[in-house]
Amino acid sequence: MENKINVSSVMEGEKTCTACGEKIKQAAEICPKCGVKQEIVAKSLLNTILLGYFLSAFGAHNFYINRTKKGILSVILCWTGIPTILSLLDVMSLTKLDVQAANTKYSQKFIDCEKIVKTVFFILSIVALVGFALSIVGGIIGGIVGALAS
Ligand SMILES: [Zn+2]
Repeated sequence: MENKINVSSVMEGEKTCTACGEKIKQAAEICPKCGVKQEIVAKSLLNTILLGYFLSAFGAHNFYINRTKKGILSVILCWTGIPTILSLLDVMSLTKLDVQAANTKYSQKFIDCEKIVKTVFFILSIVALVGFALSIVGGIIGGIVGALAS
């Protein structure tokens, strides 16, 4: 019987079947190979939002929702500011989408949180994004002015 257990190199958006170890889609509820129902561990939407907002520079929420590869890339690239932008965009999606849509988008089974919390963090993430963009523009202008003045 050919039933090799393959747990190596799981790609982004993939997981291994809890029964046979086959690489399957992150969102899969039933393994297409062995037919065993997959256990999706529910994650707190609030924790995801808090991690994504307060540790946006490191993309910390990615580790929490099992996007480990993206999380590691975010830590490596934290000095570029790119993870900050991507994390804040994730926070905006997580706070704007209803929980069903967020589950589909992030292949999760989120435990929903208060609407007011979502609204507050949606606004905060917009403010942070605008502030971040302005600081970059300010830095560039400052650099040009400094170069011209010298
Ligand atoms: Zn399986």
